[in-house]
Amino acid sequence: MKKLVSVVVPMYFEEEVAYECYHRLTDVMSKGDTDYELIFVNDGSTDKTLPILKGIALNDKKVKVISFSRNFGHQNAVTAGVFGASGDAIVIIDADLQDPPELIPDMIAKWQEGYDVVYAKRKQRKGESIFKLVTAKYFYKFLHAMSDVEIPKDTGDFRLIDRKVAEVFKNMPERNRFIRGMISWVGFKQIPLEYERQERFAGKTKYPLKKMLKFASDGIIGFSSKPLKMISFVGGCTIVLSIILFIYSIVEKIIKGSTVQGWTSLICAVALFSGVQLLSLGIIGQYIARIYDESKQRPLYIIDEKINYEEEK
Ligand code: UDP
Ligand code: MG
Repeated sequence: MKKLVSVVVPMYFEEEVAYECYHRLTDVMSKGDTDYELIFVNDGSTDKTLPILKGIALNDKKVKVISFSRNFGHQNAVTAGVFGASGDAIVIIDADLQDPPELIPDMIAKWQEGYDVVYAKRKQRKGESIFKLVTAKYFYKFLHAMSDVEIPKDTGDFRLIDRKVAEVFKNMPERNRFIRGMISWVGFKQIPLEYERQERFAGKTKYPLKKMLKFASDGIIGFSSKPLKMISFVGGCTIVLSIILFIYSIVEKIIKGSTVQGWTSLICAVALFSGVQLLSLGIIGQYIARIYDESKQRPLYIIDEKINYEEEK
């Protein structure tokens, strides 16, 4: 029997690319020797994305659509797609065609050779702002230094995962998801596949700075407790510093007998220590916020509509 490959595509305000994305994926997938299904996840877009997807699904039963009740974010959209996929392998790809669908057959070939995860590694990125290139570069360096798990550099979520990896992934209930890290964490046989990242086909990035920062903190805080260890270290250093200041001020008092002098050093010390304390509290707060998020046990996303799924609505 032919193997089934599911392709998961998250979409947020992608009316300009939805059709093209469907055509390119269909072109590539229909030429292969595996069966396929396309799973489009509408992450609460209120433009024409959903009507376009519905139109496509009406004429092509290989297309399944999952639509959220509101925007739950890229990582949750991908998660919903993995839950809604029934393939022996699942490919995760962006809608904007920055990840070339033409790479999928190579991924499938590697999978058939016996690899469980085939992740696409960017050789070059076209059409990205300098800001994005620089921040991404340093983010991955920083992540590498901070994280306890080996997370491959220059790698997005564009990848193929085997059914057994998907099953493990589905059993990871964490709320603040950093999928590329989670899949790296599970292990199994993983292999990179190099490619050139293209320009966005149309439209603008759906990752404004705020979402990028949230994503970065999910990557760092979700995968490491090093920030907590670091603040203990910084705390230790400030204690040493304050002991020096303590001795200095006592000696000053004894030698000069004046207490008015030393105002500058006093202000400096207060400012420095309160800064360090606030930063440390902030970092601890981030971890507590995550514990809080987990303890609420809310669903990762809410599905409003499912199209071309027989069993359930
Ligand atoms: N996306 C999503 N929900 C969001 C933001 C983005 O589903 O809240 C999707 C988006 O439609 C695209 C993918 O995630 O398919 C990657 O987004 P984008 O291309 O804007 O990110 P960039 O490539 O600029 O990092
Ligand atoms: Mg993109």
